Amino acid sequence: MPYTAYDNRSLGFTTRQLHAGYNPAENHYAKNVPIYQTAAFEFGDFDRCLRVCSHEEPGAVSYSRCANPTNQVLEERMASLDGGVAGLSFSSGMAAITGAILNLAQEGDQIVAAPTMYGESVTLLTKVLPDLGITGRIVGNPDNLDEFETLITPRTKAVYIESLGNPCINIIDFEGLASLAHAHGIPLVVDNTFATPYLFRPFEHGADIDVYSATKYLGGHGTTVAGVVVERGGFDWLNGRFPQMEEFLRESGRSDDPHPFTSRLYNRSLSYFGAHLAAQSAFQILQGIETLSLRMERHASNAQRVAEFLSAHPAVSHVDYPGLSNNPYHELALRYFPRGLTGMMSFRVRGGREAAIRFLDAVEVFDQMVNVGDAKSYVVYPAVATHFGLSEQEQAKAGIYPDTIRVSVGIEDVEDLLADLDQALGKAARA
Ligand SMILES: *Cc1c(COP(=O)(O)O)cnc(C)c1O
Repeated sequence: MPYTAYDNRSLGFTTRQLHAGYNPAENHYAKNVPIYQTAAFEFGDFDRCLRVCSHEEPGAVSYSRCANPTNQVLEERMASLDGGVAGLSFSSGMAAITGAILNLAQEGDQIVAAPTMYGESVTLLTKVLPDLGITGRIVGNPDNLDEFETLITPRTKAVYIESLGNPCINIIDFEGLASLAHAHGIPLVVDNTFATPYLFRPFEHGADIDVYSATKYLGGHGTTVAGVVVERGGFDWLNGRFPQMEEFLRESGRSDDPHPFTSRLYNRSLSYFGAHLAAQSAFQILQGIETLSLRMERHASNAQRVAEFLSAHPAVSHVDYPGLSNNPYHELALRYFPRGLTGMMSFRVRGGREAAIRFLDAVEVFDQMVNVGDAKSYVVYPAVATHFGLSEQEQAKAGIYPDTIRVSVGIEDVEDLLADLDQALGKAARA
């Protein structure tokens, strides 16, 4: 029987993370995905040039600013793992997020978003995009869905959240929020970076667009900066709220396009803004994805142990991790994350900022880094590192205080992680 696993969505997640989207028979039977290190591709003859340039030859590529066969494997693999109709790869998570938002909103439009997000995403919405006339309206309390609804106006073009908030790992009631967004004719956009499609698939709970920093768990080894956008398909872009999408579909003559969001994103973000991922980097992310499910299981089990250890430690005043039974999001965690949670958490050290600094300077296995989602374990001080652009009030809204430490739990032997935290917390407590 011929090999067909590259194109079979009924296979299990772990099988697809190794096979989806790559057909060796189309690549000289190379078993690993080749890196197409070329800026451009030959047309062959003029007839084919016409077909490629008019998009009549599906998947055909001409120039790596817009498309490259190595990236296409990553895009198809992510669409398969996430359960969407199409994906696109970007030069960073921020490029993916910016591209997605600029595809939805035009001058005068608004995005309603949670406050509990990656610092740069909040700054993008509240300080950078306003220069283009696009306003981020940030709710006060993301646990209260009414607050999202209050901020939605006729010029709102999306609701934007993270599936596991940064850095306190809060969980928003997705299904409730998705129905609310849809009742207003707008899509729910979810940054699913901390969960990955292995632990949580937003489309199964009503989301319409997923964005990822592939730099984190997808790549998994901290080697490569990358981003991905995935479209679920099926959203009604012709409901009157998105004139730019109507115009695009009219001009392209593709009213039956199954992934209109991705097609316009490709056209704008890749063709004109030039934000495509390099093929080398797409290869690195694909390598990471091959072991995604195995790593996430280990991240989840290590993080649960670390959270339990920290919450029982006398030098720790508070731990935010929904895997703990006393966490306010524990019920939502059990409902939405049956496979376990992310390796991310945050906690507060007794003794304020000074104790937090003593802790950070004492760790020996953990490293002080802003990066997260690496196989290796990191700690960081969010108030000056990751959420630097935010005011103290904005930081407090995101759950960041002068004694807050964010932890990215890696896949090391958990006993080593617990011992390192224990000795560093001992030093934090000794003034
Ligand atoms: C890192 C991160 C981003 C930004 O991604 P880059 O690849 O660094 O541009 C966005 N969202 C979340 C949740 C992140 O952790």
